[in-house]
Amino acid sequence: MFDIDRFVDENVLSVSVKNKGLNYGLGCIDGIRAFWNERKKQLYIFRLEDHLKRFHNSGKSLFIPIPYTVSQLSSITKQLLEINKVSQDVYIRPICFKGADTLRPDLNDPPNHLAIYTVFSEYQPKPYLKVCISSWTRIGSNMIPPQAKPTAGYLNSGLAINEAVRNGCDEALFLTMEGNVCEGATENLFIVRDNKLITPPESDDILPGITRDTVFMIGINELKLPVIKQTITRVELYEADEVFLTGTAVGIKPVIEVDRRVIGTGQVGPVTTKIQQLYNQIVRGELASYKNYCTPCYSI
Ligand code: PMP
Repeated sequence: MFDIDRFVDENVLSVSVKNKGLNYGLGCIDGIRAFWNERKKQLYIFRLEDHLKRFHNSGKSLFIPIPYTVSQLSSITKQLLEINKVSQDVYIRPICFKGADTLRPDLNDPPNHLAIYTVFSEYQPKPYLKVCISSWTRIGSNMIPPQAKPTAGYLNSGLAINEAVRNGCDEALFLTMEGNVCEGATENLFIVRDNKLITPPESDDILPGITRDTVFMIGINELKLPVIKQTITRVELYEADEVFLTGTAVGIKPVIEVDRRVIGTGQVGPVTTKIQQLYNQIVRGELASYKNYCTPCYSI
């Protein structure tokens, strides 16, 4: 058990104005979600260990070592939800960032601060989205590695979201430097074409999303559809039968319009609908074959 006095009200926390996470974006994050099962009166954390392993790997790549093991982080997360008696869906954010001992943005410098907090608001309440391709290119793996969920990378996402919203869209899609479609500002992307699920490969500067991986399982095991990692061009996106985005915060989010072009029939497609339904059952611990993805936590 983690010391109870380490759990504090968010309003009493403070960070120095000199903090390097704040000044230079020297930090990494992950995003986890827990889902409340009303029938069982039980909270389940979805793919907790996979998220925490990714968080640890991010810290390793960025020289921001996470000061707790995956198993310790897992206990802290469960304890946080237990203490707060969480009986609704909740987003959980672990963040690790550099302290304030020196001015230079040197990732060798300690200390590495860790915090884990919860957010209850809905990330994207719209049931389906109109999106546009951003004029901002996705950060390349050799710039700020998008695979490692660096806090600094979200400036790239923020610029794209800001532009999309100002242009009357709900979300932005990025192209890579080579001009291939890669991902949403904070989501992975799938297209459905001729009953095949297609998503850009890891080499196209995407975050290897955990929801994306769950969609692979659903596509292959439940829908018996081919799931293909393949570079997607802009025109392939416009001509897709269905398009949807995936992410911990948004879940499975249908896209009905890209750059003012209607996708498919303009309605949420049958493959997307089926994946949404199965995903919602899986994350709430309702499908036996995916039970190992769901860590039971608070219950009443
Ligand atoms: N891409 C980016 C840039 C993201 O921020 C996210 C959200 N974590 C995703 C993809 C989706 O990843 P996941 O399914 O693991 O949440």
